[in-house]
Amino acid sequence: NFLSLSLQAKMSRPVQAQRLEGIDKNIWVEFVKLAATYSTVNLGQGFPDFPPPDFLTEAAARALGGENHMLHQYTRAFGHPPLVKVLAQFFSKLLGRDLDPMTNVMVTVGAYQALFCCFQAFVDEGDEVIIIEPFFDCYEPMVKMAGGLPVFVPLRPQAPKDGKLMSSADWQLDPAELASKFSEQTKAIVLNSPNNPLGKVFSRGELQLIADLCVKHDVLCISDEVYEWLVYDGKEHIRIASLRGMWDRTVIIGSAGKTFSVTGWKVGWTVGPNRLLQHLRTVHQNSVYHCATVAQDAVAQGFQRELELYGKPESYFIQFPKELQQKRDWLVQSLDAVGMKPIVPEGTYFLVADISEFKSDVPDVPDSDEPYDSRFAKWMVKNKGLATIPLSSFFCGAHKNNYSHFIRFCFAKEEATLKAASDILQKWKQEKTGP
Ligand code: PMP
Repeated sequence: NFLSLSLQAKMSRPVQAQRLEGIDKNIWVEFVKLAATYSTVNLGQGFPDFPPPDFLTEAAARALGGENHMLHQYTRAFGHPPLVKVLAQFFSKLLGRDLDPMTNVMVTVGAYQALFCCFQAFVDEGDEVIIIEPFFDCYEPMVKMAGGLPVFVPLRPQAPKDGKLMSSADWQLDPAELASKFSEQTKAIVLNSPNNPLGKVFSRGELQLIADLCVKHDVLCISDEVYEWLVYDGKEHIRIASLRGMWDRTVIIGSAGKTFSVTGWKVGWTVGPNRLLQHLRTVHQNSVYHCATVAQDAVAQGFQRELELYGKPESYFIQFPKELQQKRDWLVQSLDAVGMKPIVPEGTYFLVADISEFKSDVPDVPDSDEPYDSRFAKWMVKNKGLATIPLSSFFCGAHKNNYSHFIRFCFAKEEATLKAASDILQKWKQEKTGP
């Protein structure tokens, strides 16, 4: 009968490809859901809660409703011509090198897909990829999905100068430890400067150290620079590709989402030598093929404006970090005031803070597999309505418990949102200590 037939027809063989083994959990899926369910104030995931600049939304409206109805159709696979042209012009200026829009630039579906293309294009079964901790969490599963082996090296916190707040600059690589991770099997290193989650902006000396090792061991550098414009206190973002011997072995990754405060548009790019980008194109043409034409067109118009205003006070790339620096300072001050010691970020729109003083209110679970900060962040969103991200999510499994008394805040938020977060913490602090 029908029932026994359909029982027989049921699949019994394993369906999951082996490469998905152990990478099914995703911190964003989990914490975004928690924030949506419980939070009144969300400083968790990294996106602004204020509008993007008018010039960009106007460009999008023109792209969407203007005369050129062809913007609703497919465009060139590796990037809409106006966008790759302006990106090539812009990066030629930044890198002091003549770039060809067709071969040195490729547009991707956010920086996320750019990363995916890199790992798929460069990493073979058994290749090692060095990842500096703490790291944007997707690097690890993406390396594994390509058959590679992630090799981790942590930034180690140094005690701050007397009486000072810790800075993201106090988190440093140990040169000997870094050197010890390079081997015959090393295919690539992932660099993320400015770094999510710490906000560390790598110094020239630190970049030189990495560059020298890459050259010595003939290793590629996947340079995630999505926060390149978000640097504070007059710091300079240095592109590792501009150091001697590095252009030829580096892929620069960028994001319009982070650059123009439009994370939902999912437009990203890669910049690099053709000998590397040609392989990214192979992955791209066999996976997503291209990303939304109208979004690419609007981003192209945004870059055109920024090219014309380059270095001028009206430039968004100057104004936006200025605004963010004020928000950073405000959040640093209000976290410090309640005793949630902030690590002052030199860049990005993230700030990591020490939760040790608030631990007593959040039950400890002895022998739990889950790092303390993860339980803390879940408790806080459920009981206080404030969403953040535990720092341990940015470490590999083996190191998670060593860095489990910090949480990450995103400060690309309206003043009212930051104030509401600060009010929650102040009230909590008062409940603990009495008025
Ligand atoms: N790299 C880093 C370091 C990030 O923080 C993010 C986004 N949080 C991405 C890449 C992905 O960027 P996109 O939204 O453009 O895919």
